[in-house]
Amino acid sequence: MKKSGQSKLIILGVALIILAGLLVVRSNRPKKLPNIIFISLDTLRRDAVDVYSTSVANNTKNIDNFAKDSIVFDRAYAPMPFTPSSHMSMFTGVYPSVHGLLGKGLKSRSGSQKETILPASIKTLPEILNKLGYECTGFFSSNWLKAGFGFGRGFREYIRVHRGADHFFAGEINKKAIAILTKYKNSEKPFFLFLHYYDIHSDFNSDAPPYTTSKDFQINNYTQASKEFCDNDKKCATYFLLKANKTGEPIGSQKINLLHDLYLGGVKYTDQQLGLLFNKLKKMGIYRNSLIILTSDHGEEFREHGLFLHSQVYNQTCAVPLIFKLPKNVNAGMRIDNLICNISIMPSILGLIGRSQFIPRGIQGRDMSYAMYGKLNHDVKEGAVLLQDKIKLSKYALCYEQYKFIFDYKSKQMELYNLQKDSKESNNIATVKPMVSKRMLKMLDEKVAACRRKYNSMRGRDDAANVLTAKDKMRLKSLGYMH
Ligand SMILES: [Zn+2]
Repeated sequence: MKKSGQSKLIILGVALIILAGLLVVRSNRPKKLPNIIFISLDTLRRDAVDVYSTSVANNTKNIDNFAKDSIVFDRAYAPMPFTPSSHMSMFTGVYPSVHGLLGKGLKSRSGSQKETILPASIKTLPEILNKLGYECTGFFSSNWLKAGFGFGRGFREYIRVHRGADHFFAGEINKKAIAILTKYKNSEKPFFLFLHYYDIHSDFNSDAPPYTTSKDFQINNYTQASKEFCDNDKKCATYFLLKANKTGEPIGSQKINLLHDLYLGGVKYTDQQLGLLFNKLKKMGIYRNSLIILTSDHGEEFREHGLFLHSQVYNQTCAVPLIFKLPKNVNAGMRIDNLICNISIMPSILGLIGRSQFIPRGIQGRDMSYAMYGKLNHDVKEGAVLLQDKIKLSKYALCYEQYKFIFDYKSKQMELYNLQKDSKESNNIATVKPMVSKRMLKMLDEKVAACRRKYNSMRGRDDAANVLTAKDKMRLKSLGYMH
């Protein structure tokens, strides 16, 4: 056979293999639009979930059981440890610096000040699902997710379930969820249900510790009174931690351990409530055929890097669980080790329901549905993930391969960690590995500049700006970090 004939046959063979792969993927995809339940467990850090960690035993058995029916992403990140910023990125598929819900201008309560609102040109997941015929309902706990920011778009009902006097609050969300599911169970239309649980988050009650939880859910049997978490200025609970962040006053390790245990108590309580919800979904015949996504908007830090609560770009606050249960539990037990940012949730959901053509053009998240169907590998190459500090907006991190590079555009301070060897990010190797730092800085700067351009283009402006100034570049060149 002539060479050209051989190569034609090879091309035909390759095309057939690709086509067969695509057909396998297609046949796995649901024909009818599946129901979707999207669960966000506010403030749940990745290592507090047993399926991700060996250090916490038997604290999240219901999430772990759910994970057994699901596909688990091992390296998922929230792009900013701030409730509205992170959730809006999940809903829109773009970074916070692009959708614009970030920083001091945001107010959870309406006031006379001009508020940031998501531009109409950026579409949200419920808006798109609504157009596809979904009945969209959302129950949220924190006013940071109020409809006015743009979260309410596309929902038929979007309701805040107010926090009551005690912390047994997830039960209220469950009640509302079950009531609405009973209503839509036999409906012709598919439903999308968004559930936001807030029990793990720290509390602002002055008569309780920062993480209120019942004794039943405390990991150790602590009996300390809540006034342990008040200082001389009567700053209590979360305000006590906020003040400690400002002053940096020493707080003993025993007290920090107590805080962490109370936090884990909130995780355990929420897990138990999720177990009740999942059981109910199973009894109602909804669980198996639904697409169910479970994640978090950020974690929580306990002075591992100097601060409490959640604001920095370290793993304690940005590494989150991300679990997708596909309809019919397809590929249950699969684990995906690729880096993923929660901006990819929206395009992945649209991909999973077979509607990838409705993924808005120009968004930054990636459709990871091919990876979840596990048949083709071409779409799952490692992508870099960008993180941004909630308070110091000039401070970013870039996760790429095994590294995390942190850079503050104001102070020009840089950190580099090898997360494979140093998951606690305690050994800064920025100067030990100058070539890696240099490469990461270049990638980071390109990514931050791309966000600036996208921010402008999504608002009809084209005044794209470079991020590092000429002066910055000179300085970094002199230090050997740039050519
Ligand atoms: Zn949050």
